[in-house]
Amino acid sequence: MSRTPIMAGNWKMNLNHIDAVGLVQKLAWTLADERYDTAQCEAVVIPPFTGIRSVQTLIDGDKLPLKHGAQDLSPHDDGAYTGDISADMLVKLDCSYVVVGHSERREYHAETDEIVNAKAAKALSKGLIPIICVGEGLDVRKAGRQVAHTVAQVTGALAGLSAADVASLVIAYEPIWAIGTGEVATPADAQEVCGAIRKAVAELYDEATAEAVRIQYGGSVKSSNVVDIMAQPDVDGCLVGGASLKAEEFAKIVLFY
Ligand code: PEP
Repeated sequence: MSRTPIMAGNWKMNLNHIDAVGLVQKLAWTLADERYDTAQCEAVVIPPFTGIRSVQTLIDGDKLPLKHGAQDLSPHDDGAYTGDISADMLVKLDCSYVVVGHSERREYHAETDEIVNAKAAKALSKGLIPIICVGEGLDVRKAGRQVAHTVAQVTGALAGLSAADVASLVIAYEPIWAIGTGEVATPADAQEVCGAIRKAVAELYDEATAEAVRIQYGGSVKSSNVVDIMAQPDVDGCLVGGASLKAEEFAKIVLFY
């Protein structure tokens, strides 16, 4: 498989900019001690907006083998959008990635598939790689509709995007019932939906695009379960919340290989 695994740590609304520097330093030291190889796995840290500048300075200044990203962006270029952050601002901070459509944004900020699609398109147009989050709630899972629900979200999020754009981006399958709950989907559950997402991309685009797109699993990933999850053929990495706030734990996840 030619897809490079990607482990992304979504810090959510945790850590001020000073704590952010401490965590990145400790993460880099731990990975260096373990002879981390970027060819084996890409490691990404995703601080809150207020931490990005400090993290960028540290990563660029010390040439750390880490990439960084943001948790959201505006679908607009600039203007009267109080509280929002534009793609250009993130590009200026050397962000490589931006999370789009996290379930917490969908729930607390009423983000629809259309908004997620507009944000993903804006990110791509500016050279940022979107990590597009999809996944079902417990009610949908109990009704056995997780595949149909998630594939519909993927279809909505990718609307109008070119095959080349889709091949370059990341889709994170995050069953909402497994986020921050300690409840993990089984590796087979993760594979079922990640495999269905790849099949949907093949149908919407072509086999080459489906082979190239990276699909993450997210939901209570820890060092103790990452190996089994990563053994699934259609899982190319993890989007990690809580466990990414502990440098040694996140390093173990990055070093799953
Ligand atoms: C997340 O919010 O993307 C996430 C997967 O969180 P956690 O790892 O804490 O379940």
